[in-house]
Amino acid sequence: MNKALLPEHFINFITPCLPSHLNLQDFIDYCAKPLRKSIRVNTLKVSTEDFVEKATQQGWRLTPIPWCKDGFWLQRPDEQEQQIQLGNTLSHLTGEFYIQEASSMLPPVALLYKQTDTLDLACLDVAAAPGSKTTQLAALMNNQGVIVANEFSSSRVKVLSANIQRCSVTNTALTHMDGRMFIHLKEQFGAILLDAPCSGEGTVRKDVDSMKNWTEQSVHDIASVQRDLIDAAFHALKPNGVMIYSTCTLNQIENQQVCLWLKEKYGDAVEFESLADLFAGAENSTTTEGFLHVWPQIYDSEGFFVARIRKKASVDHQLENPFTKLGQFPFKPLSKKNSQQLQSFLASQFGMNDFPLAACSQRETKKALEVWYFPPKLEALKGKVKFARVGIKLAELAKHGFKLEHNLAINFAQLAKQQTQELSAHQCQAYWQGKDIDGDFNKLNKGEVIVCYQGQALGFAKKLPDRLKNQLPRELVRDNLDFSDQYNQ
Ligand code: SAM
Repeated sequence: MNKALLPEHFINFITPCLPSHLNLQDFIDYCAKPLRKSIRVNTLKVSTEDFVEKATQQGWRLTPIPWCKDGFWLQRPDEQEQQIQLGNTLSHLTGEFYIQEASSMLPPVALLYKQTDTLDLACLDVAAAPGSKTTQLAALMNNQGVIVANEFSSSRVKVLSANIQRCSVTNTALTHMDGRMFIHLKEQFGAILLDAPCSGEGTVRKDVDSMKNWTEQSVHDIASVQRDLIDAAFHALKPNGVMIYSTCTLNQIENQQVCLWLKEKYGDAVEFESLADLFAGAENSTTTEGFLHVWPQIYDSEGFFVARIRKKASVDHQLENPFTKLGQFPFKPLSKKNSQQLQSFLASQFGMNDFPLAACSQRETKKALEVWYFPPKLEALKGKVKFARVGIKLAELAKHGFKLEHNLAINFAQLAKQQTQELSAHQCQAYWQGKDIDGDFNKLNKGEVIVCYQGQALGFAKKLPDRLKNQLPRELVRDNLDFSDQYNQ
């Protein structure tokens, strides 16, 4: 037991919050235990059944997480643990899974577990980076509807964007602003996740230093931000919409009290919906209000708090909307001519006869005409909020034809009926290292090829007479990685 992880003044502060069926010593003991490793299968890339079969063949032991059908606690053989970090495995690099703490899978499940149809759902993720829950929401929505994923910190927006790309998420637009600004976006979203910035008292098992600088004052300071954020999110929620408020902290000031503050402010317009039926065993962490208050010893996980709030009625606010002068969205619908040209190119090169060109737009730059894909359901939000990163760049149309972007292969390879090349493990390693690929590729036509490994698209290559020329973007090249332990051919 390492009691030093939890400062004495924190233990004194948190002790009265412990529910009567839990005891303090267990809490202290569990906080000192290393966290079990867990992953969530990205069903946008691979079915959970296929992933489990493949992982089991590699010697991975997967234990289902009761609240997330695609989530598993994971144990890998010792030699694999020593040879390669989980995040550097091919399966992770190709987006087949997300390394995500088990209790952090609760909020997206709690948001969508009664939502049978997500086709037209507009969802907001107020504090989204690094993107574990945005990518989970996108998978639960099967890339349908639209998710606006917001993050305040610029460096974290980049990580969020990279994770969205790695996981082949196509229904998401990124905004980069203080989440409090959503107060001006009245009643735009049917579902909202507010996974709020917090004091992180539940994360000590992952990061032993996380409680080093903890003070009671910092709890009060962050609770004030959380009240502003939940107020803003509530305004952005449509009447009858659902919001999840979650944190990875344990005190009531940042959890129950923030939710009760909202209820006090808006009365009957705020309804707490019980999560006691979310999964078998949920009753062990359910509070009297129906919130989940997950202490580390209940499910041998990180600490977490999850509240489900339904907006029963519209609430008024009189604020000037700063988003009224956003300027023009810098894209136009794809012209008929360009659409036909791209369609015939994709059909003849890859047999992609049903590419979603209706969802594509164009933009002229000095260099070329760019073609982008936008989530179709984004339309209703255009001109209402300032997007930081939105859409997926697919191609540039220059004098000599189309120059295809990496993202087209990653996100739309499943539409290709020809001109795809499955690589051997050695060729796959060469591709990730940025090298050209030698081999017999005579069956391929000339021009772009989608290269794949175990059915997952890695990106484009160009067929030359004697080899495939590597087209992996420089920033994705991993020349120092050794995948040899993952070779099975
Ligand atoms: N939902 C994320 C996930 O599952 O990967 C984790 C979110 S983390 C708990 C909270 C995030 O809120 C941090 O990335 C932090 O930078 C961001 N944040 C802090 N203040 C914010 C604000 N005022 N508005 C929006 N985001 C904020």
